[in-house]
Amino acid sequence: LSEGLQSAFKSLRGKGKLTEGNMREGLDIVQRSLLEADVSYPVVQDFMQHVSERALGKKVLLSLRPEEELVGIVQSELTAILGPVDSSLHLKTEGPTIIMMCGLQGSGKTTTCGKLSQLLKEQKVTPLLVAADLQRPAAIEQLKVIGQQLDVPVYAEPDNKNPVEVCNNGVARAKELGSRVVILDTAGRLAIDEELMAELAKIDKKVSPDQVYLVVDGMTGQDAVNSADAFNKALELDGVVMTKLDGDARGGALLSVKHVTGVPIKFIGTGEHFDALEPFRPEGMASRILQMGDIVAAAHEAHRIVDDREREELEAKMASGDFTLDDFKNMMEKVSKPGLMGRMMGLMPGMGQFKDALESDEAAGGIRQTIGAINSMTAEERRNPKVIDSARRSRIAKGAGVQTPVISQLIKQFEFMKPMMQAMAGGSVMDRAKMMSQ
Ligand code: GDP
Ligand code: MG
Repeated sequence: LSEGLQSAFKSLRGKGKLTEGNMREGLDIVQRSLLEADVSYPVVQDFMQHVSERALGKKVLLSLRPEEELVGIVQSELTAILGPVDSSLHLKTEGPTIIMMCGLQGSGKTTTCGKLSQLLKEQKVTPLLVAADLQRPAAIEQLKVIGQQLDVPVYAEPDNKNPVEVCNNGVARAKELGSRVVILDTAGRLAIDEELMAELAKIDKKVSPDQVYLVVDGMTGQDAVNSADAFNKALELDGVVMTKLDGDARGGALLSVKHVTGVPIKFIGTGEHFDALEPFRPEGMASRILQMGDIVAAAHEAHRIVDDREREELEAKMASGDFTLDDFKNMMEKVSKPGLMGRMMGLMPGMGQFKDALESDEAAGGIRQTIGAINSMTAEERRNPKVIDSARRSRIAKGAGVQTPVISQLIKQFEFMKPMMQAMAGGSVMDRAKMMSQ
C-alpha cells in the first residue's frame, strides 16, 4: 500500500497536467509496445514525437495516473492516424472500374482478388479477373482456379510475355463483356527490385487503373516500411489491404505503411477463404497494435463514469479531507446503480475496499441501509460525525429502522476510510486495483 501511495503522490507532481517529466515513463512503455508490435523504428520515433507534442499540457484526471491519461491519448492518436474509414471500391457509374493489385510475392494479391470478387458478387457485380502475373509459372492457373470456384470470368494470355498488353487486352475484354469491374492481378517479387517497379509503373501509366491497391503481408515487420515506400513512389496508390491478420501478428506494419503512403487502409485479410476480408476499423487496429487494453479501458471508464467536473469536485474534497457523510451517501447512491458497480468500485478513490461487500447478495440492502442511516442524521451530524454520541446514535438507529450497532459501525467505517480516501484521491486506477486485491 505505502508503495502505491508513494507513487501516487509522486505522480501528482505534475499538478494535474501532463509534463515532459511525468510522461517519460508512459512514453517509454508505449514506445516499447509499438516496437514489439513491429512498427518500424523511424515510424515509432515520429509517432512518439507527435504524441508527446499532442499530450504535453493536457489535463490529467486526478483519478488517473499520468501514464494512464497518456495511453488514452496515444490510443486516440493512433486511431486518428490509422483512419479514415474508407472501404469503398469507388465504382464508376460508367464503364469498367479498373482495380490494380500490387505487392510483394506471397503478400496475398491473388487471394485478395478472389476475396474482392466475392464481395462484389454479393453486391451483384461480377468482375473480370486479369491474370497479369507472368512471373510465377503457376500464377495464371491459380487465378483460373479461383475464377472457377467463384464463378467469375478470368482473362489470361498464357503465351504473351508482356503484362501491359495483357492488362490492356483484359480491359478491352471487360468492355465487351460489359463488366463493371476489372481486377488486375499483377506480379510480385520476393523483394523490391527496379524491374518490378518499372513494370508496374508502366501498367499504371498505360492502363490508368482507377484504384491501385497495395497488398501487404501483415506478418512482415520492419521491412514493410521500405517496400511500401518503394511502391508508393512508383505508383499512385489509392489504398492498402493488409493480409494475414488472422494470426498472432499485432499488425504494427500497418502503422508503418500508413505512415509512408498516407492512403486509406481499405480492408484486412483474416484468413485464406474468400469471405475472410473485413473492412478496416482503425479503433480495433489501434488497440491491437498497442495492446494496452486494460489501461485504455481504465482511462476511458474513468472519464465516462462520472462526468469530469463532478468527479474532480469529489476528488478535490477527498484530497482536502473535506469529505462528509453526505458526499459518502452521494457516492453510495452512484455506485449502487446496477451494471457498472464492479468496475466503478475499482475506479472510485477509496471505494475498492467495499467491492466484495457490495457484490454480495446483501449488497443492495447494505447500501440502502447505509443511505437510510445517513438520511436519518442531521446536517451537522453528517458534516461532523464526532458529535454523534450514544443518545444521537439510538435516535438515528430508530429513524433508520436499524439496530444501534449498525450506526456505530457505519461511523467507525467512515472515520477509518476518510484518511485513506484522502490519500487515494491522488492514487491511480492501477493502485486502486492493487489495493482492491489486498
Ligand atoms: P500473391 O503472391 O501476392 O498473389 O499471394 P497469394 O494470394 O498467392 O497468397 C500467398 C499465401 O498467403 C497463400 O497461401 C494464401 O492462402 C495466403 N493468404 C493470403 N491472404 C491471407 C490471409 O488473410 N490470411 C492467411 N492466413 N493467409 C493468407
Ligand atoms: Mg499472385
